[in-house]
Amino acid sequence: MIKKILLLSLYVAAFSACKKDSQGGEQITAKDDAAFSLYEEHFLDDLWKQNPDWATTVGYHKYDSLLVIPSDKNRDQAIHFTKTQMDSLSRFDLSGLSEPNKIDYHLIQNQMESMQWSMEQLKAYQWDPSSYNVIGTFAYILNEHYAPLTKRLRNFYQKMAFIPAYYKEAEKQIKNPVAELTSLAIDQHLGGVSVIETDFADSLKKTNIPAAEQKLMLERAKVSAEAIKAFAAYLKALKNDKPRSFRLGKGLYEAKFKFEIQAEASAQQNYNSAVERKKYLHREMTKLSKQLWPKYFAGKPMPKDSFQLIAQMIDTLSAKHVAPGEFQSAIEKQLPKLTAFITSKDLLTLDPSRPLVVRKEPGYMAGVAGASVSSPGPYDKEGNTYFNVGSLVGWAPERAESYLREYNQYILQILCIHEAIPGHYTQLVYANKSPSIIKSALANGAMIEGWAVYAEQMMLDAGFGNNEPEMRLMWYKWNLRSVCNTILDYSVHANGMTKEQAIKLLTKEAFQQQAEAEGKWKRVSVSSVQLTSYYTGYKEITALRDEWKKKKANAYKLKEFNEKFLSYGSAPVKYIKEAMFVVPKIDTKGN
Ligand code: ZN
Ligand code: ZN
Repeated sequence: MIKKILLLSLYVAAFSACKKDSQGGEQITAKDDAAFSLYEEHFLDDLWKQNPDWATTVGYHKYDSLLVIPSDKNRDQAIHFTKTQMDSLSRFDLSGLSEPNKIDYHLIQNQMESMQWSMEQLKAYQWDPSSYNVIGTFAYILNEHYAPLTKRLRNFYQKMAFIPAYYKEAEKQIKNPVAELTSLAIDQHLGGVSVIETDFADSLKKTNIPAAEQKLMLERAKVSAEAIKAFAAYLKALKNDKPRSFRLGKGLYEAKFKFEIQAEASAQQNYNSAVERKKYLHREMTKLSKQLWPKYFAGKPMPKDSFQLIAQMIDTLSAKHVAPGEFQSAIEKQLPKLTAFITSKDLLTLDPSRPLVVRKEPGYMAGVAGASVSSPGPYDKEGNTYFNVGSLVGWAPERAESYLREYNQYILQILCIHEAIPGHYTQLVYANKSPSIIKSALANGAMIEGWAVYAEQMMLDAGFGNNEPEMRLMWYKWNLRSVCNTILDYSVHANGMTKEQAIKLLTKEAFQQQAEAEGKWKRVSVSSVQLTSYYTGYKEITALRDEWKKKKANAYKLKEFNEKFLSYGSAPVKYIKEAMFVVPKIDTKGN
């Protein structure tokens, strides 16, 4: 998992800022890259003005003090904005642009179409109360050290002024909301209000802002916290006789998949492919378990049922794990080993000048993932990249044991590959070398997650873990998780899979613990499509690598593929593919 606080506030619009690019003497008619770059600059500033919360979290801080009221009028303006941008784009000849600019063009176009579709078709602003949570950005302003504290607190204060009107408007917009999303919104608002109520006050004490000003700031925080709690109370009391189902349905699901994943295949095709992959993994896992059985269960009869056989092998191997207090240091020790392995096998060039900092997960992001990478935003290339590791301090022994069995000695190594080297962290270092704000801001999640999963397999294929069957079996289990995420997400949202069927799939066929399966059910009932990004990206990158290998034949080098692939930034795999296979233009007019 990669933690980038992407607040895609799709329905918001700020102060009617749609400039017509054709006005004011800046006629963009040229088909060249210089004109396109100029357009991009315009586009970005307009985009951030329209979406100040999103801007804050990518490191663009000009609009930190703003919060856009989710009114009909502002939504109309946002739709108008997307139409204006599509109109501007249509004046460029795509074939006249460089490969990197072509990708940017596609990304902007997709983003505009996606925003329009969200506002006009999906209409989550009506049925998803959790889409109104403003607290994340306030927490970001408070906790990220991009500017002096005093300045951040003053922006925080100004931004708070919009909170009461914001929630008043939110109440007007909500109609027959999804029950699961309503209770999620209640939890998030009541759980997060401490950012406004106490964390802000605590931070104020650390500054020398004059007492009189501080008093005003605290008063406004009080009013804001009350508005947030009132919204939660409103949701609790809401009479909702005909709640909308949390299931998206086939039509909306396909469309959302198209905009978010930007894959070559449809959601349905992707689901079919995941079902095949699951069968393949089960076959391979059965073979490996049979092979390993005598080593761990000498003399004992082997279970006839292959799922039982695999489950017993995995259970036994999971007992190899670190002690609770050694989790972070085990990760720290792992990283130089990964670097050394990659260098010795010549898999790709690593840049030692951008260090990865392993740290205890900061309190304000604690919760879901045991480990994650947080990267600097596109406007903050000098910022650190962190490997956030959740601490097990204070956990009940039983809970810690279950967690450590999950992240056992094998999976812990795979986790480090995925999150760090050559997974997310390495990919980010490469992405930051391709100087495109568009590609960072509109980063494709399927490419990012797909690369991390692809990297796991690439390392194992190169012999990482001494080709031990134990390591391969455990990776298959881990890979099965991505595959089943895809199957689950599509089945639940497009095919009406029940909770009982879902739990059975995850526990019996993906060998997950009951608690993990229950957590996944909760996630799939409050989100859609994102869970498919891991497998979809992995599948597309692997297919692209195979195609590249075929084309290059004897001249094929894995290192060359890896570096070339990463050089285009966090773009959808299908566009990277287009760029990689481009035929050089021959000037037919000249000689
Ligand atoms: Zn990930
Ligand atoms: Zn144990």
